[in-house]
Amino acid sequence: MFKQALAQLQQENLLRTLHNSDSAQDAQVTINGKTVILFASNNYLGLANHPKIKEAAITAIKTYGFGTGASRLLSGSITPHKQLEEQLASFTKTASALIFNSGYHANLGLIQTLAQGLQPHGIIFVDRSSHASLIDAIRLTKTPFRVYRRKNTNEFKHLFTNQNPDAPQKILIITEGVFSMDGDLAPLPELLTSSKNFKTTFLVDDAHGFGVLGNTGRGTIEHFGLDTEIPIRMGTLGKAIGSIGAFVAGPHDLTQALINRARSFMYTTALPPAAAAAASAALKIIESEPERRRQLWKNRDYMLKNIQALGFNTLNTESPILPILVGEPLHALRFSEALFERGVYAPAIRPPTIPRGTSRLRMNIMATHDKPQLDYTLDVLHNTGKLLGIIS
Ligand code: PMP
Repeated sequence: MFKQALAQLQQENLLRTLHNSDSAQDAQVTINGKTVILFASNNYLGLANHPKIKEAAITAIKTYGFGTGASRLLSGSITPHKQLEEQLASFTKTASALIFNSGYHANLGLIQTLAQGLQPHGIIFVDRSSHASLIDAIRLTKTPFRVYRRKNTNEFKHLFTNQNPDAPQKILIITEGVFSMDGDLAPLPELLTSSKNFKTTFLVDDAHGFGVLGNTGRGTIEHFGLDTEIPIRMGTLGKAIGSIGAFVAGPHDLTQALINRARSFMYTTALPPAAAAAASAALKIIESEPERRRQLWKNRDYMLKNIQALGFNTLNTESPILPILVGEPLHALRFSEALFERGVYAPAIRPPTIPRGTSRLRMNIMATHDKPQLDYTLDVLHNTGKLLGIIS
């Protein structure tokens, strides 16, 4: 049934396959039987395999078992969920928080609910390079939407020219905080300034900013000092937090509306309590060990400086996501494969995840990469990049 379509993908070097990892998520992993330094994980703070987090999950399993057996609205709401939600509200300095089973679920439920609040004449403005879950969620709402080019504040401003400030439509503005494939940040202050005379709600998907950016790790909104201006936040628990799931934090009536309306919250079996307990333990570590985040940024600055000095194009990254632009999918694949052979796993990112002609490697730096691992990687990048003609 799909033979031809798959053959076509193969021919265009766009076919995706699974790489089986046979070890814990850490700075070094075993994939397809080979030990490699890992740059393909969003486990930025190295918490996924942290002893305290594993212990918290094991303790929760001993107390509550593993599965929840029902949705949150039936019998699946368990004490670790409640504790995590209270902790998230306090950490993000918001009135309340609600956890979802994944970032994908959170975006579907949150956008569906916010779009209902736009009725009867709402509209959504969204950055073109927003994550698939945001785009899918917007399409599902059937609300009219306009797309502006990546970070293009002029085009964003232009979207408002058709709006009548005297009879304003309600506008939902959606962007990623940290762009997951380029590593740069959404221009939140400019977006806020350009939209200040209109009735807007901002949704910042901070999947890659939460735990990573800001003085205390509260994310992109903290980084820009916009806590008051952007009261709703969405973050994931499967990346820097090292667990699984996601959350929406904001005013009490928002979380109540989500409990009553968000279909991706209402109609799915609740997250295992062990996952919530693990995320709670991670939040405590993030609060008590800011040096982890500092180490992440130290590693990131060291790698960025040296990768650029080797002559690679790292676009305009502002985060621990370091893209290395290659161009064509085949070249990116060959580069990634050659690095893998030499013990470095930096995945090739190809269309449709990113625009055609911009295939790249995407290296996610972690706090737990040590100096010898980073230096070895730089060496391999240098030799392989030269061998393949990507740098001179
Ligand atoms: N938003 C963004 C920007 C992401 O990068 C991701 C994960 N790749 C998600 C949402 C989805 O999060 P999750 O993996 O928890 O479903």
